[in-house]
Amino acid sequence: VSLTTAQIREKYLQFFEGKGHLRLPSYSTVAPDPTTLFTVAGMQPFKDQFMGAPAVFDGVANKRVTTAQKCLRIGDIENVGRTLRHCSLLEMLGNFSFGDYFKQESLTWAWEFLTSPEWLGLDRARLYVTIYEEDEEAFRIWTEVNGLPADHILRFGADENFWPADAPKEGPNGPCGPCSEIFYDRGPKYGNDTWAEYAETRESARFLEIWNNVFPQFDRQDPLPDGTPVLKDLPFKNIDTGMGLERIATVVQDVYDFYSNDVFAPIVAKVAELSGQAYEGPQSVSHRVVAEHIRSVSMVIADGSVPSNTGRGYVVRKILRRACRHAYLLGLREPSLFKLVPIVAERMGDAYPELRENLAKIEATVQSEEERFLKTLEGGIQRLGGLLSGMERGAVLSGQDAFVLYDTYGFPVDLTKEIAEEYGITVDEAGYAESLENAQEIARAGSKYGKSELFGGNQEALEGLARTEFVGYDELSVEADVV
Ligand code: ATP
Ligand code: MG
Ligand code: MG
Ligand code: MG
Repeated sequence: VSLTTAQIREKYLQFFEGKGHLRLPSYSTVAPDPTTLFTVAGMQPFKDQFMGAPAVFDGVANKRVTTAQKCLRIGDIENVGRTLRHCSLLEMLGNFSFGDYFKQESLTWAWEFLTSPEWLGLDRARLYVTIYEEDEEAFRIWTEVNGLPADHILRFGADENFWPADAPKEGPNGPCGPCSEIFYDRGPKYGNDTWAEYAETRESARFLEIWNNVFPQFDRQDPLPDGTPVLKDLPFKNIDTGMGLERIATVVQDVYDFYSNDVFAPIVAKVAELSGQAYEGPQSVSHRVVAEHIRSVSMVIADGSVPSNTGRGYVVRKILRRACRHAYLLGLREPSLFKLVPIVAERMGDAYPELRENLAKIEATVQSEEERFLKTLEGGIQRLGGLLSGMERGAVLSGQDAFVLYDTYGFPVDLTKEIAEEYGITVDEAGYAESLENAQEIARAGSKYGKSELFGGNQEALEGLARTEFVGYDELSVEADVV
């Protein structure tokens, strides 16, 4: 391993300290303001400073700050296992300017950190960027100052290169601005697509987004009565950047995905050991989901969130149950996830001592939730056994039955299929998908995720969903195990 995750984190913070930034510890995963349940970005604890509040931290005044912030993105929970670039918990490396330096410094320092042999020393030829369509200044800095070839640059509208993306349209209110994102070309091993094609596809296993440089210069306010958006200039221009530590570690270590880097590999290995199932083939999606989710859950429990049916607790429960289902698919029939917690604490505990301080509490919380959920699953097995034993070989279990098993007992359809097979019975998968789709539509009414998951909207949606014991509609599909 060239640089460990811990070394990359440390280098980043040191680099920006060298540029006059004050290093602050990560804030909690519990969101600092009520617009989201969990902290979703490194900038979130600094919204007041972007709006003009004094940049004074524990008595130290500094308009430049750098952090490694732990973030939890609810909208990405179901991406885990589906894409290879999303974690539910991520560490965001950030440098922030509150009315101090602006675009030129931000983009040249990012370039220096990534490419200088003294820092990460990445190959310049593999770096690509996107800019906001109207941002000539960013284009000039990338090409003339950093020397990036023009054909390494794509221009996008607000959907990609404004943060938050919906700010110009439906909101949320608050600091916002155009951004420039940096991508790394992981090479032909990951696909034959080209950067020019990315303009159309906006999805690539090969070109990995690693770092977002945001230029918050507007305060988005309520639109005029006729709907015209209101973007007022902030008292000064700010910088907000976020680089995903898990992603950059994967690039620097030149490993296939997160799960082979120095943080995740030992957790994945333990999942394989506990289950006796090798980390290979289609089932490996389960190793990954279990490893990723136990890390998230450990961190949010360390920060005081515990499984429940509302708010943050509901999200903790959802992540944990998703991990339980995958553990079950790997053949684990006894609580086992809690045995992974010490490895998470060992891998992450230097940077996040709260994991070690709360180790016993995290283990106990995970174990008791596992016990509860395994009972629910057993209930499903009995119900399914009852249904199947009343049917003839060659018959088809209805999609609605499969859906009820999923919805009420948290029973993955793959497992239903597997058990039905033993009775010579197949499952109406199209019917199942239809029932699932209907239920999702109901859940979606009144809840709006999408890009506005980041600020606003989702709290209400989550509390609405949490009124029932909702196990989650996240589909479990091995075919989807591609980026
Ligand atoms: P993507 O388009 O891949 O979903 P994003 O545009 O939503 O990423 P940003 O909101 O710009 O991400 O966050 C800044 C950086 O944080 C990203 O460039 C990426 O490196 C990292 N990041 C974002 N979401 C995740 C995630 N779910 N897992 C790991 N890293 C992430
Ligand atoms: Mg995203
Ligand atoms: Mg993106
Ligand atoms: Mg982005």
